[in-house]
Amino acid sequence: MAASLLTRINIAIGRFEQLIDLTLGRRYPPGAFCLAGTAVDRFPQPPRFSLKDVLGDGFLWAVPKHRRSIEKRLKRKFGHPDYVLKIMKPKTNLRTCNVCGDDHEAGVLCPTCYKKVMDETKAMQEAIQEELKLEPVEKEVVVLYEGEKDEKPDETFEGKRIVEVKKPRPAWFSKNLLQQTTQKPATTSDVKPSDLG
Ligand SMILES: [Zn+2]
Repeated sequence: MAASLLTRINIAIGRFEQLIDLTLGRRYPPGAFCLAGTAVDRFPQPPRFSLKDVLGDGFLWAVPKHRRSIEKRLKRKFGHPDYVLKIMKPKTNLRTCNVCGDDHEAGVLCPTCYKKVMDETKAMQEAIQEELKLEPVEKEVVVLYEGEKDEKPDETFEGKRIVEVKKPRPAWFSKNLLQQTTQKPATTSDVKPSDLG
């Protein structure tokens, strides 16, 4: 018992001495020589360059390796007369509209006239929306232009909802779209195949 106590005290005093030596710089800390030995053994290596450090999550695009010659560049840009010529060429497929006189490409509707129709349709849609709002459409809806309601007897509109567009009907917009605009407008809304043309 007494012997073990003595050895303990001995060890404690030894550690205390070590500590004092360390603090006063008289001795190297334990393991210092070992560390120094490993540092000396290994040849100092330059820091390794890694693409991963530079790019991170990014990725590389393919880039051209050779300069493209002027001939190749021009041919790509303007084409070749024997193959595909990409220069601007005058258009020969232009037509003049018979109605408004604007020029347009053959095979397509005249944009000016088409816009006129689009605007008219939009005005009509807005008038319908203003009149019907969000109510369910349970009756037939008749769209009339200004002054058209008085032209016909009231019985014609019985059981129908009337939407009035507050402007006169355009001359080009026939009441009966199955009828040609050159003819005078139909007096009735009935359409019979024999009356057409
Ligand atoms: Zn036109």
